[in-house]
Amino acid sequence: MAKKQDFFKQVIGHAKEYGYIFSSSEIYDGLSAVYDYGHNGVELKNNIKTYWWKSMVQLHREIVGLDAAILMHPKTWKASGHVDAFNDPLIDNKDSKKRYRADVLVEDHVEKIDQKVQKEIKKARKRFGDDFDEDQFVSTHPRVVKYKEQMKEIIDRMTDALENNQLADLKQLIEQLGIACPVSGSKNWTDVRQFNLMFGTKLGASSDTASDLYLRPETAQGIFVNFSNVQKTGRMKIPFGIAQIGKAFRNEIVARQFIFRQREFEQMEMQYFVRPGDEMKWFDHWKAQRKKWHDVMGLGNENYRFHDHDQLAHYANAATDIEFDFPFGFKELEGIHSRTDFDLKAHEEYSGKKLQFYDPELEKSYVPYVIETSIGLDRMFLAVLSAALKEEQVDEKNTRTVLKIPAFLAPVKVAVLPLLKKDGLPELANEIIKELQWETQVTYDDKDAVGRRYRRQDAVGTPYCITVDHQSLEDRTVTLRDRDSMEQKRVAMSELRSVVLDKVSMIRALKELEQV
Ligand code: ATP
Repeated sequence: MAKKQDFFKQVIGHAKEYGYIFSSSEIYDGLSAVYDYGHNGVELKNNIKTYWWKSMVQLHREIVGLDAAILMHPKTWKASGHVDAFNDPLIDNKDSKKRYRADVLVEDHVEKIDQKVQKEIKKARKRFGDDFDEDQFVSTHPRVVKYKEQMKEIIDRMTDALENNQLADLKQLIEQLGIACPVSGSKNWTDVRQFNLMFGTKLGASSDTASDLYLRPETAQGIFVNFSNVQKTGRMKIPFGIAQIGKAFRNEIVARQFIFRQREFEQMEMQYFVRPGDEMKWFDHWKAQRKKWHDVMGLGNENYRFHDHDQLAHYANAATDIEFDFPFGFKELEGIHSRTDFDLKAHEEYSGKKLQFYDPELEKSYVPYVIETSIGLDRMFLAVLSAALKEEQVDEKNTRTVLKIPAFLAPVKVAVLPLLKKDGLPELANEIIKELQWETQVTYDDKDAVGRRYRRQDAVGTPYCITVDHQSLEDRTVTLRDRDSMEQKRVAMSELRSVVLDKVSMIRALKELEQV
């Protein structure tokens, strides 16, 4: 565990050192759980966005984009349920004065029991080898059966307490399970209270005439309120989707874990409108599609798992999370929810406007059902960064730090390095940059020995380095070095465009997406 914590610190340190992520307003000691993206960070972020956007909008004739405002009419949040129900149950430890989400404390406790189950499974798999039948083992092994029962009972009790707003029961559960504050080890807890996560603000100049607004806590509602605008102007037929990337704001109680849980973050959401009754088919479809999207990035299948929800949000009839093995363990990266007709119906009721679709095949109008896929851009960024950061042994004496970011997402694709700052080598390097810069992100570096420059580019995650030397002046060939294999080969300058651009191309990834 200590190792994992060290690795997480290393990821955070690396992100700062190489211009990926800075604390917001750092010169004033930062703002808690708010971050800025540096020169490499903004490129990686934009590339992830583009990959998502193209896969959704460009590759689907039935999905279109939208960019709704962050500020929305306050009734939106009444209708969506956020004013009344967008709460987290919080609890304070009286000794450490630390504040926690009560449900997260319980979930962490359950996760510990699950780790014991996984240990038993691992042991048994080793013992039985190829004959091992995991399902049978889990349903018959007495200790595992007992652990599973314990986990279910705890989750059921928590769900019950949350659904019925029985916060005293939740506190009792925490006490009965003997959950201690991770900081102080103390079990001296306050009562559990509800805390609304929306940031309030005012519209208008003077406070007496100003009306209360909220910064949107999710981008989804901007899509729902525009349902008819988009359907009519885009002449969309069900099933169809609306995709949006944008900022969302939540006054998170426990804002730790770097960019995983921020107060200002970005979501990439797609709401897919379907015929009532068809939602489970489309839920399964999008579950598979979204996993494909992740697979193509190649961050390792073992780093992903689905987590189906036992406790459903007030609007959902099915929900699953795609979880990623972050440096602090498996946590939600993306949510896929079957939101029923809850949102559109609620907006119909609060606005008095119809949000329906006339289905020519069924010859009737209805409020469509919705499947939502919602992924945190910042969490995806952290997943890429933490899966990419490696410490590698290069030879007997030397190690290197390398960011093996998927080439098509890397902030800078090519570094052009003149061996010396003279003899016409910089000029030749510039000629190469001028040719490549139209189609990809290129950088120039002429400081230090070339070996050190390679290490620097490895640490930034640049997939290819092109070194220009004296031979280049004679025969117009250069050395092309691969970040991952560290292989170097001689390539004609005239071939660089086709060789390099093909390797770093997003089109290649998008095509793979179709084939997986
Ligand atoms: P969590 O349970 O971790 O608080 P959530 O279930 O509330 O997340 P959703 O409302 O489903 O999250 O939001 C969709 C996605 O937005 C999440 O899967 C996550 O990737 C991202 N997200 C949510 N809250 C934050 C946050 N505070 N910081 C960064 N990303 C977030």
